[in-house]
Amino acid sequence: MKTIDTSDFSNKKVLIRVDFNVRLDEQFQITDDTRIRMALPTIQKVLASGGSAILMSHLGRPDNGPADEFSLKHLVPHLSKLLDVEVKFAKDCVGKESAGMASKLQPGEVLLLENLRFHVRENMGDEDFAKSLANLADSYINDAFGVAHRGHASNTVITKYFNDDNKMFGYLIAKELENAEKMMNNITRPFTVIVGGAKISDKILVLERLLDQADHIIFGGGMAFTFLRASGVDTGNSLVEEDRLDVAKSLMETAKTKNVQLHFPQDSVIAAAVEDNIETSIVDNTEIPPDMMGLDIGPVAAQNFSDIIKSSKQILWNGTMGVCENDLFINGTKTIGDAVVEATKNGAYSLIGGGDTVAAINKLGLADKVSYVSTGGGALLTLFEGKVLPAIKAISDPVPA
Ligand code: AMP
Repeated sequence: MKTIDTSDFSNKKVLIRVDFNVRLDEQFQITDDTRIRMALPTIQKVLASGGSAILMSHLGRPDNGPADEFSLKHLVPHLSKLLDVEVKFAKDCVGKESAGMASKLQPGEVLLLENLRFHVRENMGDEDFAKSLANLADSYINDAFGVAHRGHASNTVITKYFNDDNKMFGYLIAKELENAEKMMNNITRPFTVIVGGAKISDKILVLERLLDQADHIIFGGGMAFTFLRASGVDTGNSLVEEDRLDVAKSLMETAKTKNVQLHFPQDSVIAAAVEDNIETSIVDNTEIPPDMMGLDIGPVAAQNFSDIIKSSKQILWNGTMGVCENDLFINGTKTIGDAVVEATKNGAYSLIGGGDTVAAINKLGLADKVSYVSTGGGALLTLFEGKVLPAIKAISDPVPA
């Protein structure tokens, strides 16, 4: 298989599937540009070796068709600055205009296509749509790890329109796979998994699998309350997935048989709602009043979790400990983040993934102090479930057309 380093891009138009699915604020300013920065080495390599780059991505979930708030045009100024090239923009990813702009592209130039998801055919994996995209270029690079668990037109179906010498992974996907494999195939113990975020429903499969590998699993965030409720604790108005109580119980039973230690928060920061300036208090989790919600782990939990983390040699973290979007509920995540940093300094291998967790880690300034920060959430978890990602398979193990 060709790699980006063994390919010749001179005078070639290279279509790069990137993951520019970044968060924008109300003024359409990028709040966290990690995903863009992580894609730069691949784009720069193509440009430096005499090619031109046609970039395509999704942004958010524009379920009702094209909408200004999901337009990739908002990224053009920042991307131009980062690349030090004036990035051109095509108002539609397919059609006459993008084809015309792509055909005129000169070596060293960059064209960004409008949001792929403005066409429902992207998520449907439509062949004609994939072919129209493929027709824009000579070579194809997939560097969008964040969506590699989806078999969409631009990251999976499209590969059949390029021969083996003209399709490859970018540096980011290569790095992501290398780090995930390091964690899965070479476990150093104690191995601690930290899971948080809103719900257990998205993470059940990976949790079941991790019960075969981890020594400790720490639960924080909203998902901890489903486990606490399943153990008979009254958790007030906290987020609980009533229809997952049985799953939570069964995970706790399995953990016992497999000798995996599960850790749940003992206390929480509670409030009546997620609002700025709202009154908060700290209570034991058995004493959350009916009208109050646990919105962050409390200091006792944070301390207990930190002790486990600091004595670990391998750490996987997905999901925040609280509603970090609001600074009132970020302290638990900060304490846990500091513990991961300290464990890393002491030689542990730490991998953090998931959009909200990475945003929190960036906000806290800890990203460069852990071993690896992944741009994937769902993709990373799917890998840890032991599955092959469709977009990875499409290039490394292509099905003949
Ligand atoms: P996930 O995408 O599953 O990792 O969930 C991330 C989301 O979980 C973030 O938006 C957090 O605000 C939310 N979250 C974390 N802790 C809680 C909590 N205690 N109650 C409700 N939502 C939470």
